[in-house]
Amino acid sequence: MIHLILFGPPGSGKGTQAEKLIKKYNLFHISTGDLFRAETSRKTPLGLKALEYMSQGMLVPDEITIGMLKNKLSELNHVSGIIYDGFPRTIAQAEALDKLLAGEEEEIRVLVALEVPDDEIVSRILKRGATSGRSDDNDESIIRKRMEEYRQKTSEVFNYYDRFGKSRTINGLGTIDEIFDRICAELDQHI
Ligand code: AMP
Repeated sequence: MIHLILFGPPGSGKGTQAEKLIKKYNLFHISTGDLFRAETSRKTPLGLKALEYMSQGMLVPDEITIGMLKNKLSELNHVSGIIYDGFPRTIAQAEALDKLLAGEEEEIRVLVALEVPDDEIVSRILKRGATSGRSDDNDESIIRKRMEEYRQKTSEVFNYYDRFGKSRTINGLGTIDEIFDRICAELDQHI
C-alpha cells in the first residue's frame, strides 16, 4: 500500500492537488482539517473541542488529532493507498503515524512539500475565504497564527522524514496544472 504525505503551509494548495492526485493514482484522501470540519458541523463533542483551537488558528492537540486519525484508518479497507493532507503536523503525530503503519508492516513512501512564499499564502487564503465559508480563512490575524503554528511546530516534520531520505520539495507557484505535473513527476519515481 502506498502512503504519501502532501505537505506545506496552509493555503499552499494541498487540498486542491490532493483531489487531482487521488483520481490519477487511485488513492484515498485523508485531510484532518476536513475531518475536523465534518465533526464541527455535526456539533459532535470532538468537533466542538476542535473548534476551540481551529477558530484561533491553533493546532488541535495531538492526542485528539491522532485519535481521530486512528479511527479513520481503522474504517478503511481495500484501498490501494492514502494521501495524508494536513497530517502529520507535529513530530509527535509523525511518530504516531509511523508506529501505526509499522504495526501493519507499512511505511510512508514519500513526503512532497509545496513551497509557497508567505505573502502569496495570505492572499490565496483570503481569496479562498470569500467562498469557502471558513471563518479561519477570513481573518488575517488567524491566518498569520496558522502560519506561525506551521513554522514553529509543523515545518520540522519535513526534516523528520528527510532524515530517512523521504522528503521532497516542489515549487508551489504556477497554475494548478503546472504544480500538479511537478508533483506527478516526483511521485512517478516512487509509485
Ligand atoms: P486545514 O484544513 O488543514 O487548514 O486545517 C484547519 C485547522 O484544523 C488547522 O488550523 C488546525 O486547527 C486543525 N487541524 C487540521 N489538521 C490538524 C493536525 N494534523 N493537527 C492539529 N490540528 C489540525
